[in-house]
Amino acid sequence: MFDNLSEKLDKALHVLKGHGQITEINVAETTKEVRRALLDADVNFKIAKEFTNKVKEKALGQNVLTTLQPGQLMVKIVKDELTQLMGGDAEGIDLSGNPSVILMSGLQGSGKTTFSGKLAHYLKTKKTKYPLLVACDVYRPAAIDQLHVVGDQIGVPVYSDKENSDPVAIAKAGIAHAKANGQNVVIIDTAGRLAVDERMMTEISDIRKAVEPQETLFVVDSMTGQDAVNTAKAFNDVLNFDGVILTKLDGDTRGGAAISIRSVVEKPIKFIGTGEKMDALDVFYPDRMADRILGMGDVISLVERAQEQFDEEEARKIQKKIAKNTFGFDDFLKQIQQIKKMGSMKDLMGMIPGAGKALKGMDIDDDAFKHVEAIIHSMTPVERANPSMLDASRKKRIAKGSGRTVQEVNQLLKQFNQMGKMMKMMQGGGGKKMMQMMSG
Ligand code: GDP
Repeated sequence: MFDNLSEKLDKALHVLKGHGQITEINVAETTKEVRRALLDADVNFKIAKEFTNKVKEKALGQNVLTTLQPGQLMVKIVKDELTQLMGGDAEGIDLSGNPSVILMSGLQGSGKTTFSGKLAHYLKTKKTKYPLLVACDVYRPAAIDQLHVVGDQIGVPVYSDKENSDPVAIAKAGIAHAKANGQNVVIIDTAGRLAVDERMMTEISDIRKAVEPQETLFVVDSMTGQDAVNTAKAFNDVLNFDGVILTKLDGDTRGGAAISIRSVVEKPIKFIGTGEKMDALDVFYPDRMADRILGMGDVISLVERAQEQFDEEEARKIQKKIAKNTFGFDDFLKQIQQIKKMGSMKDLMGMIPGAGKALKGMDIDDDAFKHVEAIIHSMTPVERANPSMLDASRKKRIAKGSGRTVQEVNQLLKQFNQMGKMMKMMQGGGGKKMMQMMSG
């Protein structure tokens, strides 16, 4: 996410390194570079200019601060301003209605249907929410089918009526259906067009007037850069929506939309989409996003994801196994599966401070896990429980069975042994917490 921008900002902020104090000259130099980095990331020209002016003003105003290195101070100022620009605090969605009605808007292909499913899935895991998805795209039967596929996938009911060509009537009927069936959140997926067009706007306005949603959300593809901002403006002028959903942030997006949208439409970004799967949804936290943009990682999100997957009982079992020296490859495999549940490797790496930069250019993919899994699957259960019995001929057989080389098998064994040693070391007192995290 935002690799290019992160790298350029990092370079810009390094200009100040080595300087003992902040002067007008080095501040001007730095802010010029920051502005260039923002423009390259497709941030709106006016916003980039205002942003750097604010940073400059703050930096010069704070030159009395001698406790910090100027470089660090500048990073802090840029981070604070970026956070402000993206909205300050995170904003949730209003679920106070019964049912709460959430109306989706956005262009075709922006990710509306996918996000509708993700949101339903997200709310469903909150236990007290029973969502209903409503298909209001009367022009494309395939869109209705797509919503049904999504609903089946996450176990959420879908209301649709292919006989009816009036989206307002369908939306109303959907809400009545939810009331009759005890569903307390109604998510209405609407028709999008390839470009902003009056008929689409009228239609969605009509639906909105008829159903009075608690939330009207605007979904936009972050890969479209400045266009995303312009489309947001067009939709907001008509709908005055409540929040923005930025999708496809997992792709190679330059970041401009994430940074500019908030201040152009003065509406918060509420969620971001980070993949095609139903769980690839994150609440948008401006400060965490600023950390990520500045290559400072997002440790909080990383820990949260680890906690979501954390299974206390499993952790205790593993601790016991390590103490008794019976930690084997089956346990190792389980741990890999736990890590994989946390997200893609690339995504996780981006959350580790500095990792983005350190690993730049490296091809981090999830195949590495696949290879390790293949090797372990080629071991017999007895071998998995007793890795020390793996002699040359067994290794050769395993390599052949998994389609990997003997060197790779050896490397995995070496890593496994090192991990065992490390875990044993950490078992004493202070390492316990870390242990739990690793096994979670
Ligand atoms: P709609 O026309 O607005 O309903 O858009 P869809 O929900 O059908 O999404 C269009 C395409 O974008 C589909 O192929 C989705 O799988 C994909 N998509 C949606 N959200 C994301 C996301 O956050 N990341 C990625 N990589 N793809 C997404």
